[in-house]
Amino acid sequence: MFMIAGISPKTKILEQAPRTCPACGLAQARLCRIDHYLNLFFIPILRVKTGRPVLVCSQCGHAGDSNASVPENAASFAQTRCRGCGRILEKEFRFCPYCGKPV
Ligand SMILES: [Zn+2]
Ligand SMILES: [Zn+2]
Repeated sequence: MFMIAGISPKTKILEQAPRTCPACGLAQARLCRIDHYLNLFFIPILRVKTGRPVLVCSQCGHAGDSNASVPENAASFAQTRCRGCGRILEKEFRFCPYCGKPV
């Protein structure tokens, strides 16, 4: 029997809220994680490797290690939670981009 099996990467977006890209400065970078899945007949059936979170910019294509560019303590310091919808926002935001409430 011939089996079509292989391992392929799958990008998972961890955070819907865009972050500021360290390369171009635009808030177009999203925190993603590339996991590797074992495929059988092109269907991912098993996650074999969990990747590290990376910041991927849709504007300039920059992909950086989020741990290197955004230190953990700085990230938690620079973030706040919207009281309206509960989403995590950057501290610089004065209004929530999701529900429009003042932060
Ligand atoms: Zn960028
Ligand atoms: Zn909100």
